[in-house]
Amino acid sequence: MSNFKIVGKDKRARAGVLKTAHGEVKTPVYMPIGTQGSVKALGPDDLKDIKAQIILGNTYHLYLRPGSKLVKKMGGLHKFMGWDRPILTDSGGFQAFSLGAMISDGVRKVGPQREQGTILRSHKGDVGSDFRIRKGGRMYSEKDKKLQRRVTVELLGQAKRNNIDSRLRGNDMLEIASSPSASRNDSVVFSKITEEGVEFTSHLDGGKHLLTPEKSIEVQLDLGSDILLVLDELLSPLSSPSYVAQSLERTHRWELRSKAYFDKHREKKREKRGMLFGILQGVYDRGIREKEAMWISKIGFDGFSIGGSFGTSKYWNGSLSTSLRVNSESGIDWAETKAIYETMDWVTPLLPENLPRHALGIGEVVDLFECCERGIDMFDCVAPTRRARNGSLYISPKSGGKVSNKFVIAIERSEYKEDKKPIDQGCICYTCKNFSRSYLRHLYLSSEILYHRLASIHNVYFMLNLTNQIREAILEKKLKKLKDDWIK
Ligand SMILES: [Zn+2]
Repeated sequence: MSNFKIVGKDKRARAGVLKTAHGEVKTPVYMPIGTQGSVKALGPDDLKDIKAQIILGNTYHLYLRPGSKLVKKMGGLHKFMGWDRPILTDSGGFQAFSLGAMISDGVRKVGPQREQGTILRSHKGDVGSDFRIRKGGRMYSEKDKKLQRRVTVELLGQAKRNNIDSRLRGNDMLEIASSPSASRNDSVVFSKITEEGVEFTSHLDGGKHLLTPEKSIEVQLDLGSDILLVLDELLSPLSSPSYVAQSLERTHRWELRSKAYFDKHREKKREKRGMLFGILQGVYDRGIREKEAMWISKIGFDGFSIGGSFGTSKYWNGSLSTSLRVNSESGIDWAETKAIYETMDWVTPLLPENLPRHALGIGEVVDLFECCERGIDMFDCVAPTRRARNGSLYISPKSGGKVSNKFVIAIERSEYKEDKKPIDQGCICYTCKNFSRSYLRHLYLSSEILYHRLASIHNVYFMLNLTNQIREAILEKKLKKLKDDWIK
């Protein structure tokens, strides 16, 4: 029997209710990210005030620190962090890979970054061809071979290459190998995939760990998660067709192992039991995605998280349909997001209608509309809290929010110096009810800690409220009208 009930539909968009061991979740739902057992800058009281229904916890981080056994001893993650509503945990695989394999390919979740075969070697100038690695570069100390800290790297063009010393500073060495060619043997490898699982190096202390499908479920059960995700291998758009085929076969075996372990060790009482979501892996290829959707539908999962690579490369060009709007002036790179929406178009008709669907790591304003229209029910995205910390605050169309400004204002701009208005007209969050743009700008420029709380309250509420508006619109069969009001 499914825990999910659809209570309204507008074409393919669904409004539903998902029953969990810690209460009901009304969908579509946006899930704020509580990486390390805390949604950055927000307490559980703040989260309840802004009507967060469910949050996401990161298995990788909690497993390494403070350790899932400790959390279990402390009564589980809900008790540990003082949050009595539902929690979804990921498998930990994404971080194990993204702090390793995927970054070594130089790719983000969306879009290609560079050609296979290039290699960034060290800050001494031995650098591969032009590319960018925007997040998650590693800095290693050459002396003790230990990870020092993460850096952001963006190197484009010959001229910039020569500046690498000044960008990286110190005597640290940055070493990122491309895979599977290049000289991987003499490079630092951060994660390695075997049939057994993912071997990875802790980003905290350089310690070695093995994350198996069984281990991932064990950790998530120790945390007391309401929705657990299976371990899968995150694919890169730079992977060749033969590698993708091999990897997907292995992911199938991992998903079955995850399910077997979960079925054996889950809570006996049905009302207290967590749910297990399968992960729909794949690359930007219709045939592969459809095959995967059909495979995963038969396993008996409680829901599905749609992940994998949405990037294009010489291998994967999708169907290149022109059904999606291409707007070069919009400020959104439709060539990237198009692949996400197209993938949703391919797979959702093949998934069981009566089970929830989660778009892994997706959830900007436009994504919410486009994915809800394609039958997605759950979203998670770090953008609201990350943007808040960077001074980008969400605004609705009432305050001039549109696709071209990504629905944000940069609060540091001088035009807000004497601006008495709230961040967003019509927003009823605590921040907007009590504080002006002028005050928030002052806090931001003064690096006051309070800024982070106030900005995060607004940005997270903004996404929760938008998702709720989408739900209401689906129930009233007016989703198209709401979308037209937002996306012009
Ligand atoms: Zn607000």
